[in-house]
Amino acid sequence: MIREWKLTDKETEQVTSRGGNVVEAQKAKKQAYLAAGGNMTEQCSREVYSGDSFFGHQCTKKVMVEREGKHYCKIHDPEYILGKNRKKQEEWEKAWAAKQVRRAEEKKDRELASAAIEACKKINPSNPMAVAKGMGEIVEALKKISKGEGRYSLDRLTHASNTIEDMQDVAIEALKSVDSPSVV
Ligand SMILES: [Zn+2]
Repeated sequence: MIREWKLTDKETEQVTSRGGNVVEAQKAKKQAYLAAGGNMTEQCSREVYSGDSFFGHQCTKKVMVEREGKHYCKIHDPEYILGKNRKKQEEWEKAWAAKQVRRAEEKKDRELASAAIEACKKINPSNPMAVAKGMGEIVEALKKISKGEGRYSLDRLTHASNTIEDMQDVAIEALKSVDSPSVV
């Protein structure tokens, strides 16, 4: 059988006469042969197990690389396996980091929820939900009050008293929303 991947005697001689490393030269020639799609008589060194047999057998797939004197098919190439594992590890780390972020957000939400519940219960113990729902109205009322715009009057005292009355109405109306005794 012709072994095209083997250094010929002439090639070996050439490498030696140039002071080269024969082993390295042989490796390089074999690697180039495999890379070009050449077939080896050697089998992949991996032991494989098929589902129905208890005993393993040597992998029969086409040899693609040589690593440290052993031959491997594409999927059993130790470097390929290493790369695949590294990718898996990176994906796992990414997922873990994303989970940590999610957990931190959930923790914040839980803290906000319990603080909000406490505050609402304090304001209206019999109907804290009314407080939660009325919060927006309260804020709107406060914005209105902060502008202090009452019914206008040319008389300064009347204008002042109008403003107080109108702002009181705004506050009373808004407070109704959170003071309601129970959910209807
Ligand atoms: Zn294999």
